Amino acid sequence: MTDPTQARDILTHARRLVIFTGAGVSADSGVPTFRGASADALWGKYDPYQLASPQGFAADPKLVYDWYNWRRSQLALIQPNPAHQAIAKLQSRGATIITQNVDGLHERVGPPGATILRLHGTIAADRCSICDHAEEIDLHHLPALRPCPRCGEYLRPAVVWFGESLDPDIWHAAESACRAADAMLIVGTSGEVYPAAGLVRLAASNRAKIVLVNLDPSPFDDMVDAALHGRAADIVPQLV
Ligand SMILES: [Zn+2]
Repeated sequence: MTDPTQARDILTHARRLVIFTGAGVSADSGVPTFRGASADALWGKYDPYQLASPQGFAADPKLVYDWYNWRRSQLALIQPNPAHQAIAKLQSRGATIITQNVDGLHERVGPPGATILRLHGTIAADRCSICDHAEEIDLHHLPALRPCPRCGEYLRPAVVWFGESLDPDIWHAAESACRAADAMLIVGTSGEVYPAAGLVRLAASNRAKIVLVNLDPSPFDDMVDAALHGRAADIVPQLV
């Protein structure tokens, strides 16, 4: 890990801070990541197109729905970690969160009513892809696969799947936040892959200072003002 002083300075002086989070912030809570070399990385074990695409759901809705319920049952057992707690402190000072995570862990510790832009939706709801009817899911009382009460189509998890577009309203809100930001904290993703890369570029073009906290070094480190490597749960609390 590099000296955290500069990163801490940037966050302390930020007036319009945007925090962008990815799978690495939740990995320390025990949420498996999708990619990467770790033995429990989900896409090493499962076929993403079978379990997380509209075509996969159409082919076998029960298989897909049961897999999401399995992930929901895992989420019911875990807790936000010190990185989520530290990020919640920054939220109470006005920071905006943009997250790629669908696990809802930021929401569990964040100040009530705080803005969280969930680029990939939430696992704690189902929705209908025909009529947009939506239902919240209690992770401790999981429903089975069932039809939409309005139109009869099967309800599906309210997450963004492969081959689907991001919600345009959420994306535009994320772009506006990044355009207005004077500092950006990226946690648990390298920031070099889209959509993160586009948002980082937007913030950087407005001369926002950028702090990156990620497990492994990447070529993207050279593009940011401070890069710190290690577990988010160890590093982020030191910056706040
Ligand atoms: Zn419907």
